[in-house]
Amino acid sequence: MSEMNAAAVMELSDIRKTYREGKLSTEVLKGVSLSIPKGALMALVGASGSGKSTLLHIMGTLDRPTSGDVIFEGEKVSSWGESRQAEFRNRKLGFVYQFHHLLREFTALENVMMPEIISGTPMAEARERAAAMLERVGLKDRMDHRPSELSGGERQRTAIARALVNSPELVLADEPTGNLDFRAAGSVMDLIEELHESLGMAFVVVTHDRELAKRLPSAITIRDGKVAEESL
Ligand code: ADP
Ligand code: MG
Repeated sequence: MSEMNAAAVMELSDIRKTYREGKLSTEVLKGVSLSIPKGALMALVGASGSGKSTLLHIMGTLDRPTSGDVIFEGEKVSSWGESRQAEFRNRKLGFVYQFHHLLREFTALENVMMPEIISGTPMAEARERAAAMLERVGLKDRMDHRPSELSGGERQRTAIARALVNSPELVLADEPTGNLDFRAAGSVMDLIEELHESLGMAFVVVTHDRELAKRLPSAITIRDGKVAEESL
């Protein structure tokens, strides 16, 4: 990498993505280049259908770009094979979605332990760290509840605890407040800001809510498949 930026946790270089279905092809991303500084707290905004989720999936190695590179701490992760990418995601990234995607038959504590179990953390340590993370997100008294016994906001807090439990370098959140009412959304954003402040990893938070985005220190706007120049 000729122009690697050592202060960046992730760099995207000329990312293009075209979806092809039969004869139809949709060019969603038309050359996105950007740099996410270590420890950044960044909003990713854009109209519905502008390609925010597509870009986030590509950043998270959950989807491959049609062309262009995703570089994580100097390594071109977008060209790695599936199993190496899976291990990378487990160790270095955290994911939060609009819908919590918690496993319904498991308690909050067990859900938060999952990424640790996958990475081979011994059970006692996994339990201890998961419990500490749940306490941190304000769910000390909800650890043994299943998702159906939690409110929407509590489920998102659990999902955030799960995303953070392996101490990722970068957390990718796709409309984490999109399914919550106004108050719960505000309190989940407060939590994200507080965790960012205290734990220091980088966050990219997709939202179509400009008011929420304005709270964050920096923002990227996707428009017409590219990073728009203007700020919020
Ligand atoms: P956003 O998250 O900003 O709302 P998306 O990234 O989900 O936007 O979608 C961007 C565009 O790509 C939309 O037009 C959507 O229909 C299209 N798209 C997304 N995923 C696929 C797919 N798997 N196959 C075909 N088209 C897709
Ligand atoms: Mg989306």
